[in-house]
Amino acid sequence: MSDTRRIGFIGLGNMGTPMAGNLLKAGHRLRVYDVAAPRRAALAALGAAAVAGAAEAAPGADAVITMLPAGAQVAEVYLGAGGLIAAAGPGTLLIDCSTIDVATARRVAAAAQARGLAMLDAPVSGGMAGAEAATLTFMVGGEAAAFEAARPLLAAMGKAVILAGPPGAGQAAKVCNNLMLGISMIGVSEAFVLAERLGLDRQRLFDIASKSSGQCWSLTNYCPVPGPVPTSPANREYRPGFAAAMMLKDLLLAGEAAAEAGLDLPLGGGAAAVYEAFVKAGQGGLDFSAIVKHIRGDADSSPGETGGG
Ligand code: NAD
Repeated sequence: MSDTRRIGFIGLGNMGTPMAGNLLKAGHRLRVYDVAAPRRAALAALGAAAVAGAAEAAPGADAVITMLPAGAQVAEVYLGAGGLIAAAGPGTLLIDCSTIDVATARRVAAAAQARGLAMLDAPVSGGMAGAEAATLTFMVGGEAAAFEAARPLLAAMGKAVILAGPPGAGQAAKVCNNLMLGISMIGVSEAFVLAERLGLDRQRLFDIASKSSGQCWSLTNYCPVPGPVPTSPANREYRPGFAAAMMLKDLLLAGEAAAEAGLDLPLGGGAAAVYEAFVKAGQGGLDFSAIVKHIRGDADSSPGETGGG
């Protein structure tokens, strides 16, 4: 977009750094903060102004975007006397892109609203590759007017920007999506490992299932075994992508949301237990599709192995 905005960006990790970089490339002026000084320095080298605290990114900003690990950090950065909500001037749009629990998202949005500030929860799908390539999907919770104001900024970092509903609805969409994804990846992995044991060629299984009722994204876009989908992490030793530890985090968030809603999720709970065991075996840094190694029984092998090829 051509019109330059003043943006505060807080949380310059694996996702935040490339997202902030894409905003700079789109011509926006950024004030950035991360608790880790090297992260701030890396963005400053790309043309952002690094500031010494989260609240310093807010005054005079058209929008402040956060990309933080979890609900605890989001509450810390937004709420309280030294938080973003107290520091932001009228008209500053607050956008949290972190994946956090629905309850904290609603609590922070209500605190913003009480000060007359518009706030959106806008978690993303697409992983680090999507953040680099500006092809993320944003699922957004908040008021329609704030959504329209945020759309051009989010479009500079992603290819799909979708309003999910009122505050918290973006986080609700994210946990529901990743609940499906975590379960389906385990299902596809179980099928490929069973095929191995039955002597069925993996490419043949792929060719048939991708044209049959087993077809799903985990199979056709992100196949957990090397070969059938050349771009999937299985072909690069399961480097993420989207790390297994992140998938576990999201499945636990789905479980938390379900418990609050009085709902039992038998497969969601089972999927969380499977990922938890994988992460406890020291494999949480691998892509989540490496869960096929756990199902095959070789999850304790080194992260460098492709898991039987
Ligand atoms: P990350 O851990 O790499 O980055 C988080 C950054 O926040 C770190 O640089 C950390 O130093 C900083 N930080 C922590 N507390 C802070 C504070 N109080 N003030 C300022 N900075 C602080 O995590 P990430 O992979 O970039 O993920 C960020 C969010 O995006 C998470 O909520 C994650 O669930 C979500 N997400 C990640 C992926 C992925 O593939 N990595 C995909 C979709 C969504």
